[in-house]
Amino acid sequence: MKKIFLSDIIKFLTKKYPLENATTWDHPGLQIGNPDQEVKKILTTLDVTPQLVQTAVANNIDTIISHHPLIFHPIKTIDLSHPRSQMNAELIKHNINVFSIHTNFDDGEPGMNDFLAELLNLKNVTKICPGKTINGINYFGRMGETNKSINELIKIFKDKLKIKMIKFLDNGRQIKKVGIIGGAGASGIKPAFESGADLFITGDVKYHDFLEAQISHYAVLDVGHVVEKIFALKMVPIIQQEFPTLTVKSNKLSAMEIPNLEDK
Ligand SMILES: [Zn+2]
Repeated sequence: MKKIFLSDIIKFLTKKYPLENATTWDHPGLQIGNPDQEVKKILTTLDVTPQLVQTAVANNIDTIISHHPLIFHPIKTIDLSHPRSQMNAELIKHNINVFSIHTNFDDGEPGMNDFLAELLNLKNVTKICPGKTINGINYFGRMGETNKSINELIKIFKDKLKIKMIKFLDNGRQIKKVGIIGGAGASGIKPAFESGADLFITGDVKYHDFLEAQISHYAVLDVGHVVEKIFALKMVPIIQQEFPTLTVKSNKLSAMEIPNLEDK
C-alpha cells in the first residue's frame, strides 16, 4: 500500500483551500508537525484543546486537521507550567501533526458557508455581496432562499448540530432570503440586509449588534461560534475521498463541549 505523508495531505488541502485566500490577520497552515511524517489516522476538529489532544493520543491519531489555528498568537515562551504549553509539548512528544484551514476554508467552494447554507437547505445560494472584499479577499458568507420560519431554522441547528443556546431577534419579518456567515460575522448584518436578506445568521453577536439590528428592524439569529463544528463533519468525506486508505475521524463537538471521538 502506498504510504501517505503529511506533505501529501498539505498539498491536497492547500490546493483546495489556498493559503493565500486567508485574511491578512489569519494564520492557517502547518501549526506543529513534520511534512515528511507518514500519516495513517486523522482527526478533524473545530478547536484543538488539551482534552482533544488527550483523545488524539488515546486513539493513536497522528494528524489533527483543525479549523481554528492552534497557534494563532505568536508564542513568546514555552512555559511548561501553563496548560497551553503542556498541550503543545504533548503534541510534539506524541508526534501528532496539526494543520489548520481557517479563513481560507470559510469562503472556499465548498467551504464553511456553503456547508451551512446546505445544512439549512437554502436554494439559489449566492455570495452575500459578490465582488465586495474584506481585508483584500471576497469573504462574505452566503445568501439563499427558504420557505422555513425562524423557528424551523432554529430547530435544524438544534437537531442536526445539537446546539443548545441560540439567541434571536425576530422583528416579525417574513423570511424568504437568509444570509449566513459561520463564526463571528456580525459585521455582515448590515451588508446582508442591504443585499436583500430577511434574516441574518451568524455567531458571537454582541448586545449592541442586536440593538442596532432591532432599531433597523432586522431579524438576526446568533447560533454561536460553535456552529462551525460542521467543519469537523464535512472534512471527513473530503479527506476520505482523496485518501481512501486513511482512517479519518471527526470530533463532533466544539471546545465548549466535552470532547467525544465518534466515527463518521
Ligand atoms: Zn471561527
